[in-house]
Amino acid sequence: MYFDETHEAFRASIRRFVDKEINPYMDEWEETTAPLHELFKKMGDLGFLGIRYDPKYGGQGLDYWYETVMLEEIGRIHGMGVSTAIAVQTNMATPAIAAFGSEYLKETYLKPAITGDMVTAIAVTEPDAGSDVFAIKSKAIKKNGYYVLNGSKTYITNGTQADYLTLLAKTSDEPGYHSFGLFVVPTNLPGFHVSKKLDKLGLRSSDTAELFFDNVKIPAENVIGDDREGFICQMKQFQHERFAVLPGTCVGVDNMIAMTVDYLRQRIVFGKPLITKQVLRHRLAGWLMRNEALRQLTYHIVKMKMEGLDATKEVSMGKYLAGQLISEVAGGCLQMYGGMGFMNETLISRYFRDARIMSIGGGADEVMLEIIARLEGF
Ligand SMILES: Cc1cc2nc3c(=O)[nH]c(=O)nc-3n(C[C@H](O)[C@H](O)[C@H](O)COP(=O)(O)OP(=O)(O)OC[C@H]3O[C@@H](n4cnc5c(N)ncnc54)[C@H](O)[C@@H]3O)c2cc1C
Repeated sequence: MYFDETHEAFRASIRRFVDKEINPYMDEWEETTAPLHELFKKMGDLGFLGIRYDPKYGGQGLDYWYETVMLEEIGRIHGMGVSTAIAVQTNMATPAIAAFGSEYLKETYLKPAITGDMVTAIAVTEPDAGSDVFAIKSKAIKKNGYYVLNGSKTYITNGTQADYLTLLAKTSDEPGYHSFGLFVVPTNLPGFHVSKKLDKLGLRSSDTAELFFDNVKIPAENVIGDDREGFICQMKQFQHERFAVLPGTCVGVDNMIAMTVDYLRQRIVFGKPLITKQVLRHRLAGWLMRNEALRQLTYHIVKMKMEGLDATKEVSMGKYLAGQLISEVAGGCLQMYGGMGFMNETLISRYFRDARIMSIGGGADEVMLEIIARLEGF
């Protein structure tokens, strides 16, 4: 209904890639972290990293429906660490460069992100400012043709491997929103340090880092758009980030339910397969129903984006619903596996650990609810 033969052919090519180049390595990468330069180069060569971007910079020049196909297919990866790393590259760190960046920035930084020659990260969160982005303290002050950056960022996905960061910093002490700049910060500049690779509950195949900036001299041409309008640019970029988790969540939820149904068919308890228990069947059916509602909201958002409409409210609703649903389903399915669900050899335990991020990262559930309430005028 939403996708034609061309979309399906595209879907098949990404699916083949995930099955051959990603899923067989996921167990290993959960221990060691996925090697993003190697992986992204392969994806870039196949055109998977720049689906919506201008062919002038190596992109495919396709629309949001194709992007949705790609995001759905990376939802089939066995764990959310690698899909998050990929989405950072395609939907979190590069949309602002494509939308507001100069020709120089697109040529020098967007293009290699699309071809997979550079790994990117988005650096907004700081030790004292996460939900309240306005409270960030990192400063990039213009001096002699450079912006001199001081401060720190934390929880940065791809942070130990990134070749550049798309980074938000204060550019002046003026009150209000017009005192932030969004910058492309190459990580080979003197004064850039990875302070720590962070140890975390889930997304273990993805690296997350704390970063430190000590008088890093960012070339003046690396500011994305106006050096006073970075906050607005980042708020717009967040819409791509938050949308990016929706298609994969729907697929992940479907997969967890399918895996669990298979298990319940085989597991005999009190003389019968567990799948015969009505209480479990109804719980699974309820999750499927809510997942279908989330999928329809996702497709509605795609239609809005195709029409050029502002979908901020709908994206916030989707992000909230996705976070709630995926955690509930992961926890509920794990429960149905019993002790086996608690074992790391079972994929459901990884989903359970990974799903938890969805209600926190990229704007916590409460932040989504605030946005919805504000847009509704109360
Ligand atoms: C694995 C991982 C990867 C991440 N990757 C990145 C990345 O690549 N780049 C990046 O910039 N950031 C990244 N983040 C940071 C993430 O976006 C923040 O953690 C998130 O925005 C929440 O900020 P915080 O952790 O500072 O929580 P806080 O802002 O301290 O909030 C704590 C909790 O308070 C509650 N809360 C917040 N606001 C309100 C409110 N208005 N009303 C009621 N309750 C509220 C929420 O439940 C929230 O979880 C990542 C985080 C994790 C854990």
